[in-house]
Amino acid sequence: MADITVNNNSIEKNTEKKKKKKKTPRCSLDGCNKPQSIIVGNCKWCNQHFCNTHRLPESHCCMKLNDCKDSAFNINQNKLEKEKTVCRKVGII
Ligand SMILES: [Zn+2]
Ligand SMILES: [Zn+2]
Repeated sequence: MADITVNNNSIEKNTEKKKKKKKTPRCSLDGCNKPQSIIVGNCKWCNQHFCNTHRLPESHCCMKLNDCKDSAFNINQNKLEKEKTVCRKVGII
C-alpha cells in the first residue's frame, strides 16, 4: 500500500511540472506576444498560426499574400459577372 501512495505522489508532481513547462502557443508574427487564436488563427495561405489581430494575410504580411489577392480578385470578378447577369434578367422582365 505504501508503494502505491508514493507512486501516486510522483505522478502528480510530474503533471505539475508539465503544466508549468507548457507554453501557450504564441502568434507567429515577430514581436507579437499575443496567444494564438486556436480556431481561426491558422493562415491557410502560409500555414502559420496567428492571434486574432494578425490572422488575416494582410495583417501578417503573408508571404502568399499575392496568391491570396489573385484568388480574391477572381472571386470578386465571378461575383460581378453573376450580378450583371441577374440585373439583365430583371431588366428584361
Ligand atoms: Zn499577433
Ligand atoms: Zn499567412
